[in-house]
Amino acid sequence: NQKAIATPLKTKEILAKYGFSFKKSLGQNFLIDVNILERIIAYAGIDKQTGTIEIGPGMGALTEQLAIHSNQVVAFEIDQRLVPILTETLGNYDNVTIINQDILQADITRVIEENFQQGQKIKVAANLPYYITTPILMKLLMEKLPVESFTVMIQKEVADRMAAKPNTKSYGSLTIAVQYYTEARIAMTVPKTVFMPQPNVESAVLHLTVRGEPPVEVQNEAFFFDLVQASFGQRRKTLRNNLARHFAAELTKETIETLLAQAEIDGTRRGESLTMEEFARLANTFYPKAG
Ligand code: SAM
Repeated sequence: NQKAIATPLKTKEILAKYGFSFKKSLGQNFLIDVNILERIIAYAGIDKQTGTIEIGPGMGALTEQLAIHSNQVVAFEIDQRLVPILTETLGNYDNVTIINQDILQADITRVIEENFQQGQKIKVAANLPYYITTPILMKLLMEKLPVESFTVMIQKEVADRMAAKPNTKSYGSLTIAVQYYTEARIAMTVPKTVFMPQPNVESAVLHLTVRGEPPVEVQNEAFFFDLVQASFGQRRKTLRNNLARHFAAELTKETIETLLAQAEIDGTRRGESLTMEEFARLANTFYPKAG
C-alpha cells in the first residue's frame, strides 16, 4: 500500500500537480488513511463477486480499494475537474467506470442495468458529500435499487439519527424512513484526522442492510410517512396535539381521540416513544379517514 492514493503525501502531490483546490460547497473532504478504507471494505463485506457503486470518488482513494477488492466499480462524480485526475490515479485498474454526473440527477436503475450483470450482487460504498447525505440516501432507498447494502461515511449526528432506537434524542422521522427500508447500524466512528481538509463535524460509518420486505405492513406508504412526520412535528408536544394540528382541516378532535383509541395508542405519549409497529398501526387506523 506504499503507493496508495489515500496518503497525505500522495494527496498533496496530486493537489500540486493539478493545481486542485477543494470546493467546500461540494463537501470535498478526502480520505488520507488506507487503514480506515480497508476497515470500510471489510465491514461492507465486499469481495471479488461483488459489484460496487460509489458516490463521489474524489481523487479515487476509496475507488482504488474498491477496484482492488471488488469485481467492478461504477462511481458518480459531479466535479468535472476530478475526471482527468481519476483517469490518472486509477489508470492501472480496468474495472472502474467513472460517470461525471450529479448523483441526484442520475438514472441509477439504468446505470445498473447497463453496467452490471443481471443478478450480480451489488453494494454501495462511499464517503458521502455531507451537504446532501440525506437526499442521496433517501433517493437511493426510495428507488428500491437492486442493492444489498450501503456502507457510507457520513456525519456522526446523521448516522445516530438513522440508526436510532425509540425514546432517544436522535429518534425521529428520518429514523423511521431509513429503517423502513433497511436495518441500520453504526459500524465505527471516525476521527477528523483521516480527512484532508478536516471536516467541521464528527464522522461515522453507517451500515445499512436493505430489507427484502418492509418490517411493517402499511396501506399507504406516503400517508404512513406523512403521519410519522406529523407525530414528530413539535417534539415537546403530545402525539394527540401534533396529530390534531396536522389533521385540523380533515378531522375533529373527537375523531382523532376515537382513532387513537381504536389503534390502542395513548394520545398523551410523545412521538419519540412510538415504535415503527405502533406508527404503522396508527397510520392504518387513520387511513383512509384522513389523507
Ligand atoms: N471518495 C473520496 C474520498 O473518500 O477521498 C471523496 C469523498 S468527498 C467527502 C465527496 C465527493 O463527492 C467529492 O469528490 C465531491 O466532488 C463529490 N460530490 C459532491 N456532490 C456530488 C453529487 N451531487 N453527485 C456526485 N458526486 C458529488
